[in-house]
Amino acid sequence: MKNSKSVARRASFKQLACKYCGAICERVDFAAEAVTCSRCVHRLVNGEVLYLPEQPKKLKKSKK
Ligand SMILES: [Zn+2]
Repeated sequence: MKNSKSVARRASFKQLACKYCGAICERVDFAAEAVTCSRCVHRLVNGEVLYLPEQPKKLKKSKK
């Protein structure tokens, strides 16, 4: 009896979208507010610079 779908985990993990590409990561720490998916982590460790997509908050920060 193993119900692999719709497993109700006990609130220690949640799903969260990768902050770079938006891919849904499963089993993110429940306290996490942002996550980087393994794909983006891989790119980062390869020295690639990833840019965050536009964020609704503090979009216009005049810094020159
Ligand atoms: Zn990603």
